[in-house]
Amino acid sequence: MEWRINKGNTECSACVKKFKEEEDYYSALFDENENFTRKDFCADCWKKGTLDNLFSFWKTKMPRQDKPVQKFVNIDLILDIFCRLEGSEETHKRNLRYVLALYLIRKKLFKFKNLQKQEDKEFIVVQYSKEDKEYFVFNPDINEEEIESLTSEMVQLIEYPYMEQSILSNA
Ligand SMILES: [Zn+2]
Repeated sequence: MEWRINKGNTECSACVKKFKEEEDYYSALFDENENFTRKDFCADCWKKGTLDNLFSFWKTKMPRQDKPVQKFVNIDLILDIFCRLEGSEETHKRNLRYVLALYLIRKKLFKFKNLQKQEDKEFIVVQYSKEDKEYFVFNPDINEEEIESLTSEMVQLIEYPYMEQSILSNA
């Protein structure tokens, strides 16, 4: 499964209208043929859209052109994706869920508890203190490089979109 990175969208995927500065719109991840694709929609198209294979979505706002560009990762969104991936048997999704767990541990949202074996499979057990929940995460035993690449793909796929022009003008 490959991630199709579609970052920095500045127009609606449906009506192709350019987003205006400070316009609210919706970003969504779709699970299509075992690939995640990212699409952005203006509010009108979002309302009337037929959203087959919708996996997760969030509301966002076009930055103002004269403002410095900020990129941030929405932790709640990562948690949402992590929860939605629970139970998936598909290799890439399991790897992804593991990487998201590592990320959430690094961000101190999860606490690593221990490792557990069940029928020759290894799981990391993490604690989400805020809701007093424990999650079992399949340990796919992937190397550092794969973790890095999954992390950067994930971050690029869900990051706050930016306008290429403002990046250039602020450089
Ligand atoms: Zn539209």
